[in-house]
Amino acid sequence: MADDLLLKYPSRRLTCAIRIRGGALTTLGPWVRTLTGARRAALVTDCRVDALHGDVARRSLARAGIAAETLLVPRGERAKRPRELARLWDAFAALGFERGDVVVALGGGVVGDLAGFAAATWMRGVAWMAVPSTVVAQVDSSVGGKTGVDLVAGKNLAGAFHHPAGVLVDPDLLRTLPLREYRSGMAEVVKTGFAVDAGLFRSLERDARALGAREPFALERAVRASIRAKARIVCRDEREREGGVRTALNFGHTLAHALESALDYRGPRHGEAVAIGMRVAARLSQSHAGLDPGARRRLEALLDAWRLPERIPSVPVERLLEAMAHDKKRRDARVRWVLTPRLGHASVPRLIPARAVRAALFEAGAQP
Ligand code: NAD
Repeated sequence: MADDLLLKYPSRRLTCAIRIRGGALTTLGPWVRTLTGARRAALVTDCRVDALHGDVARRSLARAGIAAETLLVPRGERAKRPRELARLWDAFAALGFERGDVVVALGGGVVGDLAGFAAATWMRGVAWMAVPSTVVAQVDSSVGGKTGVDLVAGKNLAGAFHHPAGVLVDPDLLRTLPLREYRSGMAEVVKTGFAVDAGLFRSLERDARALGAREPFALERAVRASIRAKARIVCRDEREREGGVRTALNFGHTLAHALESALDYRGPRHGEAVAIGMRVAARLSQSHAGLDPGARRRLEALLDAWRLPERIPSVPVERLLEAMAHDKKRRDARVRWVLTPRLGHASVPRLIPARAVRAALFEAGAQP
């Protein structure tokens, strides 16, 4: 349709179409046919999403003459494992899945990362379509082509860049998300606004009430603006170069990753950890990058409005510093922070003196 967004990746002459519209799930089948020409699909999803939205997806695929086999994966991060990847490969083999067939990933970031990686690796790469159903998946994980699974040694360690042929974003799907999941995902939208798009940030402030009530119009506007902001960045820095523009999207993530790994991924949800990480990064931005205190207060107020956490749960500071030093994204033993000198602008990751980081962590509630 005319208003589909077309991402062009210059380095590999790739394009990826993104359709963002309330109710778009009903158009899945014809769109899959248009973009891939496939007549057979593996619909990868989890049982909760399947129960809520699977039938609409299947009906649309069937109407377009696409025979779909549903492959269920477990719910949550435990699905993003090599074992589940191998189960998908076995299922593809049993179906006689071939190059012209398509994988359709219907679900959150976990389903997208796993099914996208299965598509990247099956017969050295088959087409896939992303149908993201969480805030995180719609505004973040389905744009940019990163796919993969977790290993015991760390999250997302085995993976590939494999862009979907299309991303079908139906913001109405977010209306069935559990409240904590919804709020936690909104932390990533706030991040995109604060670190790269001041206009998006202002619209989040303006639409706070409507977004809280998940009004379709407000949802669609926020999701669309957020995707556009991420797409602009991803097209300029497709492979997340060291210090490239894409690192701006890691605002708040230095501490978030450390917090999640120090608590063995049983602590706050990712978006909640990002919210705490953003609060600390904004504090450091004020002291080390000249961020206006008023802008920092606006960030705090928006995170508070979403009831996103403020304090670091009981974790010793040294544990957090150790976890930061082990984050796979570091290039040497020192830890770099993405700071925001101005609302809507992020700096390249910078080294911050350990003393200042320690002080900021203590102030945010970390234990001695
Ligand atoms: P998730 O995929 O685990 O989904 C969370 C829960 O929400 C699941 O239990 C799921 O069943 C349920 N759910 C999904 N959609 C629903 C709906 N519409 N209604 C009701 N329930 C629904 O979590 P997530 O936050 O979407 O994704 C997190 C994963 O995404 C992590 O593994 C992370 O590493 C990955 N990620 C990847 C990228 C990337 O660039 N590839 C970016 C960010 C995050």
